[in-house]
Amino acid sequence: MAEGEVLIVVISGPSGVGKSTVAETVLEKAPGLVRSVSLTTRNPRPGDVDGEDYHFVSPEEFAARRDEGGLLEWAEVHGNLYGTEVKQVERQLAGGRSVLLEIDVQGGRSVKTARPGAVLIFLLPPSDEILETRLRGRGTDDEDVILKRLANARRELESAECYDYRVVNDELDRCVSEVLGIIRVESMRRGTDGAKRGTEGV
Ligand code: 5GP
Repeated sequence: MAEGEVLIVVISGPSGVGKSTVAETVLEKAPGLVRSVSLTTRNPRPGDVDGEDYHFVSPEEFAARRDEGGLLEWAEVHGNLYGTEVKQVERQLAGGRSVLLEIDVQGGRSVKTARPGAVLIFLLPPSDEILETRLRGRGTDDEDVILKRLANARRELESAECYDYRVVNDELDRCVSEVLGIIRVESMRRGTDGAKRGTEGV
């Protein structure tokens, strides 16, 4: 990654838009950029490693940490509580590494409220049809569930305007280069005119 101040970068967008693939590829290509490990109450899934993918805590512990101000943002997604730990993010920033958060749309907006200097990138699907095909392909034939997923996705797409950048997740390589370019530009901007802009919380 380029010189300049460290950043909190949020990649967000509706379910099915390809956040994980984009985030993983960006992380592979950008040494110095670190993924945040979230605090969540959802059940571990096969292959999940505590502390690597997520930290798993009970709903009670989650509520206690949240009430103590230990979470940068938190949200309930599909009945599970997810939160980003302030300390975990701070540790990375203090070590000179920028942090990449791959979180839901509401979580992204909460980060911006807590840290106005964070860079929010919204991933847009190439088309409504592609998004619908992906959401229909997610392990259920239940039409009610599918319609709910589609309605959520459409609502979340309306949040795109609140984000700093909107990137169409069409061809993976092009999308990843665009995201890396945004990170580079924002990082340099902080490095060169950071004094004028102030710290803006990052
Ligand atoms: P999954 O359980 O499939 O990893 O994530 C489900 C959804 O929760 C995804 O939309 C993901 O972006 C969101 N999510 C995962 N971790 C966090 C987090 O720490 N905070 C917030 N707000 N959302 C998260």
